[in-house]
Amino acid sequence: MTDQFDLLLAGAGHAHLGVLRLWMGGQRPPGRIGLISTGPYAWYSGMLPGLLAGRYRAEQCRTPLQSLCCEVDVELLQGEVRALDPHARQFTLDDGRQCTADWLSLNLGSLPKVPAGSGATLEVLPVKPFEAFLAGWQRWKHSPRSLAILGGGAAGVELALALASQVPELTLLSGGAILAGHPAALRKRALRHLADARVRVEEGVAVDSIHGNALVAGNRLVWRGTRVILATGASALPWLAQSGLACDERGFVRVGKTLQSLSHSHVFAAGDCATLEATPRNGVYAVRQGPALAVNLSAALSGQPMRPFQPQRRSLALIADGRGGALLSWAGITAEGDWLGRWKDRLDRRFIERHHGTH
Ligand SMILES: Cc1cc2nc3c(=O)[nH]c(=O)nc-3n(C[C@H](O)[C@H](O)[C@H](O)COP(=O)(O)OP(=O)(O)OC[C@H]3O[C@@H](n4cnc5c(N)ncnc54)[C@H](O)[C@@H]3O)c2cc1C
Repeated sequence: MTDQFDLLLAGAGHAHLGVLRLWMGGQRPPGRIGLISTGPYAWYSGMLPGLLAGRYRAEQCRTPLQSLCCEVDVELLQGEVRALDPHARQFTLDDGRQCTADWLSLNLGSLPKVPAGSGATLEVLPVKPFEAFLAGWQRWKHSPRSLAILGGGAAGVELALALASQVPELTLLSGGAILAGHPAALRKRALRHLADARVRVEEGVAVDSIHGNALVAGNRLVWRGTRVILATGASALPWLAQSGLACDERGFVRVGKTLQSLSHSHVFAAGDCATLEATPRNGVYAVRQGPALAVNLSAALSGQPMRPFQPQRRSLALIADGRGGALLSWAGITAEGDWLGRWKDRLDRRFIERHHGTH
């Protein structure tokens, strides 16, 4: 049997949380609305390194979705979307349920890229989805072994700094220089923190395959061990491109400034799963898209004109140093210190508090 909605939000990502938060303030449009989420919580990546380092408890780093949805009269549908038919306006979930809506909105995030494997004996743990990652890490941390982290972006660096003291030996492998896209001064600061934490850093090592217990870049064996965490750049959920929505060459949904799909205007997409000019893929931009998406979903339901999303030109990055402090990068300026860690902590806690329903 097909369930019929006016609007379906797929994925409890940062942008959809922003939409629900604005609706808590009284801006919910009329109609039957559902949120499809794989689990009962939306995890906040900004606090994940602090959780792993033991500074937060799990319940401090996630938004319970049931109470938030109750607050704004949105039906929470727990399940994983496995397919989308944009013509029929229909999602198929992992348990076979089918849900249809006049308007669809996608905020599904992305997954780390997985190197090709042959006869891999390594245990590989992708950092997303977070529930699976956290469950995997709980298992690993009781029998610490040497670890490699693939990916030298902010996520890989934060994870390395959070986990270095919990394993006998940690190697961070980065396809290019670490923290590419940030000022060279930030990279220097991060390398110093990584050295202090006894993390071995290998830059310019693009691991493309796993053979047995070895990581291989090109023809070169670059690491041998038993456990690897993947914090590599974003890859798209495969069923997005298979759905027939216009996607870029990497499979991310192409949207225009109103966050509507370029091929199917009744489908919106925001955050990591979407491709929009001048908009990097990270949590800051996903959060920023929330208010614009809320306005346009209301406009869609009430037949009003849409408003364009204006990406900010600069964004603040605060990278946890694993010991309570943080490194800052903003508009070419870099800094570090415990005070930045306290500031980051306040911003992160406020993000979680803002999305708590009262039910
Ligand atoms: C360790 C770490 C630290 C990071 N720190 C920062 C930071 O400090 N600042 C920053 O800007 N970025 C940071 N990032 C990047 C950031 O996490 C992502 O860019 C951001 O989460 C993207 O937000 P989103 O709203 O697109 O999706 P997400 O926040 O990933 O949310 C997507 C949601 O969709 C759900 N979902 C996925 N597939 C399905 C499906 N098939 N059916 C139903 N639901 C589904 C997921 O479970 C999830 O709840 C970090 C990433 C990591 C890994």
